[in-house]
Amino acid sequence: MPTSLRSTMSTKSPSTEIPFALPSIGPEEEAAVIEVLRSGWLTTGRVTESFEREFAAVVGARHALAVSSATAGLHLSLEAVGVRPGDLVITSPYTFTATAEVARYLGAHPLFVDIDPASLNIDPERVEEALRLRRRARFPAKARIAALIPVHFAGLPCAMAALLEAARRHGVPIVEDAAHAFPVRARGADGALHFAGTLGSAGVYSFYATKTITTGEGGMVVTEDERIARRVSLMRLHGIDRQVWDRYTSKRPGWEYQVVEAGYKYNLTDLASAVGRAQLAKARGLLERRRAIAERYLSAFAEADWLTLPLSSDEHAWHLFTLRLIPGRLTIDRDEFIRSLMEQGIGASVHFIPLHLMPYYRNLYGFKPQDYPNALRAFQNVVSIPIYPGLTDDQVERIINTVKSIGERHYRGGSDGAPRG
Ligand SMILES: *Cc1c(COP(=O)(O)O)cnc(C)c1O
Repeated sequence: MPTSLRSTMSTKSPSTEIPFALPSIGPEEEAAVIEVLRSGWLTTGRVTESFEREFAAVVGARHALAVSSATAGLHLSLEAVGVRPGDLVITSPYTFTATAEVARYLGAHPLFVDIDPASLNIDPERVEEALRLRRRARFPAKARIAALIPVHFAGLPCAMAALLEAARRHGVPIVEDAAHAFPVRARGADGALHFAGTLGSAGVYSFYATKTITTGEGGMVVTEDERIARRVSLMRLHGIDRQVWDRYTSKRPGWEYQVVEAGYKYNLTDLASAVGRAQLAKARGLLERRRAIAERYLSAFAEADWLTLPLSSDEHAWHLFTLRLIPGRLTIDRDEFIRSLMEQGIGASVHFIPLHLMPYYRNLYGFKPQDYPNALRAFQNVVSIPIYPGLTDDQVERIINTVKSIGERHYRGGSDGAPRG
């Protein structure tokens, strides 16, 4: 998130500061970039093709298409599944704006469906209801629901079996926002585990600087569907039809190409893909380290009765580790809690400010804060603490001790108000 980077960088920097997020970049990434720089081919080329092939093999997808960001990938995916002006796209309000803005790019509207307060993921029963209802607040009854975008919040996969079943019944394609969810698996409608991002019609990963693997900026679209793959491939680079072009390359000069659509400029460079390949090779190890930190946090905070821990799962990418303060148990609120962490040199952030509270969506659709009560309540109490492979054990212990000491210092307790020993 841009906000997390900003909060990391703008804070005064005592040498003991623990930033909220840091990428895990080493000599492998450096060497790969230098090789590309020296090759003379910097834009999309063979390195990107290799990255796509390797990524597809890791997640078990038929097609993987590298793009300049997950935002670009979500836009292309919605376009490819046929989202048109006036359509509705079901998604969670508890996400980054990229998830919903792509519907607006196409003249469609996000139809927000509240989250499950335990997982913080979109609630499948509410999705089912939204798919079934003919009359909707704010939108004409005849407006078509053209896509569903589940967001695997923090890296915990959504209840995909239920979502796939509901979407199938109503003939609505799923585009997974897997920006937080690499590499982690989700149970599909067949009861088996598949990589999150590969269960819907299309899935989109982010390689933004704070995500579980990064290319600085970048993303990947995966799909089993030949037609979607071809459309994404066409539209990510100016609507230039490679197939028309390739068919004649042997006979035609190298400068010739056919433009068949007004496409976009969403390709990923070989420079970025070189970093991506090195990150992909490390992804297992990076996940193991995130998981070890998450387990340490979960056991260290298990006794604290003033916070709610994130749902744990064997399948969790741990892009974020979110605590939620329990209202009334502390004498300080969430903002003061974060200020206190920052004062002690620990970066922290909030995921997410629900989209229905944002001026753009609020003004356009007339939302009230209580329209999505679960998203609102989660936002008011949530604190994201640092979780990334580069954290040392000492730093993890310092984060734990600081969080605990802030909680204990401001403890009000339950109804009796007595501090615990
Ligand atoms: C980061 C993020 C995106 C956008 O990713 P970019 O690669 O920066 O475009 C989309 N959805 C969610 C949930 C994200 O956190």
